[in-house]
Amino acid sequence: MRLNVAIDGPVGAGKSTVADAVAAHLGILHLDTGAMYRALGLTALRRGIDTQDEQAIVDLCRGLNISVSHEEDGQHTFVEGEDVTGLIRTPEVSMAASTVSRYAEVRKAMVKLQQKLAAETDMLLDGRDICTTVLPNATAKIYLTAAAEERAQRRWLEMQQKGMPDTFEEVLQAVKDRDNQDMNRKVEPLRQAEDAVLVDSTNMTFDEVVDAILAIVEEKRHG
Ligand code: C5P
Repeated sequence: MRLNVAIDGPVGAGKSTVADAVAAHLGILHLDTGAMYRALGLTALRRGIDTQDEQAIVDLCRGLNISVSHEEDGQHTFVEGEDVTGLIRTPEVSMAASTVSRYAEVRKAMVKLQQKLAAETDMLLDGRDICTTVLPNATAKIYLTAAAEERAQRRWLEMQQKGMPDTFEEVLQAVKDRDNQDMNRKVEPLRQAEDAVLVDSTNMTFDEVVDAILAIVEEKRHG
């Protein structure tokens, strides 16, 4: 039977790095679905298209070829064949991704692509609507979260290491703004699915979080 693991959660809960480690332990691929919304947000910014203009973004999305590949160093994300992996992690692209992801037609296209990829091979997907919409029948469903201050602290440290100048207060505000937009949008807002297992990583180490998720997957698979 196909092994599909679904992880949802808010900004900076550590989903991506935790998901990478869990997928590696399980020997399956990790699909970072946020990267797809980021690729669309980046393209809108580059082409000077207003991300608040739903029709323009839907038109852009319709004509755009977004794809991913899995390499030795992890997922690469492409727009029209161009590798944009290194360009999609800026604060501007984060907010643009959150804005374009509010539109129903955009979500429909992304969900369809994600479901196709997950049906082809054993895979772990992380995002905002994986447990609720993309893979409601996943083998294991996890909602990974942490207190907003803790999530901002982690993100800020990451940004500092990359030499980005943002202050902690700016990062905290950006985390709260994006949470607010993601949790209050009309279409598929971020929420914990009823049958998802909550993992609150506020006071947990990275390894503890990975172990907790692996234990949940094990229990659901063989429990
Ligand atoms: O996970 P990441 O922070 O890279 O996602 C960027 C944005 O894309 C999120 O803030 C969210 O608005 C959107 N997203 C989504 N559904 C997903 C993954 C990401 O709406 N499955």
